[in-house]
Amino acid sequence: MNFNMNDQRNQMGELMQEFIPAMLSSYENMKSKDVFGITDKALIERLRSIGIPKEGRPLREVFQEMLDSVYTNQAYLQHPRCFAFIPCPVSPLSWMGDIMTSAYDLHAGSWMLSSGASCIEQEVIQWMCGLAGYPQTAGGLFVSGGSMANLTALAAARDAKLTDEERTRAVAYVSEQTHSSVAKGLHIIGFRRDQVRKIPTDSAFRMDTRALRKAIEQDTKDGHRPFVVVATAGTTNVGSIDPLTEISALCKEHDMWMHVDGAYGASILVSSKYRHLLRGIELSDSISWDAHKWLMQTYSCSAVLVKDLTNLEQSFSTHPEYLKDAAAKKDQINFWDLGPELTRPARSLKFWITLQVMGTESLGQMVEHGFQLAQWAEDELKKLSDWEIISPAQQAIINFRYAPKDISENQLDCINQQIAQEISDSGYAGIVTTELNEKKVLRICALHPETTEEEMRKTIRLLNRYACGLSSRLSD
Ligand SMILES: *Cc1c(COP(=O)(O)O)cnc(C)c1O
Repeated sequence: MNFNMNDQRNQMGELMQEFIPAMLSSYENMKSKDVFGITDKALIERLRSIGIPKEGRPLREVFQEMLDSVYTNQAYLQHPRCFAFIPCPVSPLSWMGDIMTSAYDLHAGSWMLSSGASCIEQEVIQWMCGLAGYPQTAGGLFVSGGSMANLTALAAARDAKLTDEERTRAVAYVSEQTHSSVAKGLHIIGFRRDQVRKIPTDSAFRMDTRALRKAIEQDTKDGHRPFVVVATAGTTNVGSIDPLTEISALCKEHDMWMHVDGAYGASILVSSKYRHLLRGIELSDSISWDAHKWLMQTYSCSAVLVKDLTNLEQSFSTHPEYLKDAAAKKDQINFWDLGPELTRPARSLKFWITLQVMGTESLGQMVEHGFQLAQWAEDELKKLSDWEIISPAQQAIINFRYAPKDISENQLDCINQQIAQEISDSGYAGIVTTELNEKKVLRICALHPETTEEEMRKTIRLLNRYACGLSSRLSD
């Protein structure tokens, strides 16, 4: 063999000593960076031309190339003025935990392979279950994201509620604002598209429970088997929270599983000021909860919680002969028996480190700052003429559009699209559009603890400046 791992380790030591302080100051100077880095074509071509070499290259050269061409070429979702999609403000504590965890390369599949990490995962999950108001029977595990959490919970729902014979006539209920990962998950676990009902939402984008009741009753009459309702606590588009208590009552009445997709919004439970908004979540059977959205974790870090842990065991434990030596004993837990993954990273450790150092109170205050940011945006918008609020500030999200009179709907769609483009091109803030009530609207989702009131207000004033420029060009 013509490589020497000792040499590699020595060279790495030097590079890592430069890397960590450089990275910390990069986070410190994040506000001076453009939110959306523009990927230039020449750079991509250069990357493509590298290829996979037969003979190795010097470490320092590869290291520098990664910094210059790959890592820094991104839309910074962790930027304090990134208001697009669901941003991800990241605590350096989380990436420190990531570095440590991947350095130790723990296998978090079973107690035998990583008892300390398994214990921490149990502790964090129990804390989350407690916030959700779940009883002692509850549990769960960390998975890669909200999509996997939804899929995992839906598999448990299917196995808990349906016989093999019922599967082909089973029906699941979502709303018009349910995240697309739910339909994807249902598809992956074997349901046809015609087994998913999209229930309309009310004027505040919450699932219309009268329409839900009607659909369930009709389906039952038609010989279908309603088995799960997916409620959302904090929709991705507008932050709306479905009527959890009413949905739970309908589920109980019809022997259905209630899943709450809280990938985005369950983090509100950490805030003592706003947790009351999620009242009713304790009545659900399962919850998805992303820590890599509103709780400052690096990707990927998401929990799926179930009210009765035996439901996950029934769906996911396999006990093959080659894992018998690692079977869990009393009071131990093998996470590979609770979810789809066998080999899995210890995703809870970085979160644990963040929780230990920050404490839950300041994490809660960070969530509350998001609410405040959206409120400031709304306040600034209300000072301007020609702007229309489509969905008011709630859970750190606000949707609005520039809508002066005498401009056609088609043109308004174009102008609003253009406004989002101009502010994003400017590098100052990242804003993208979405669609609500068949209109193209601007959407701000603001979660970063370091975003200031002045930055939020300036963003709105900038949007207005671009809007006025565009509409005056239109009337020329
Ligand atoms: C983001 C989101 C998801 C998907 O989560 P990933 O972590 O991206 O897989 C699911 N549901 C809701 C409501 C979300 O906001």
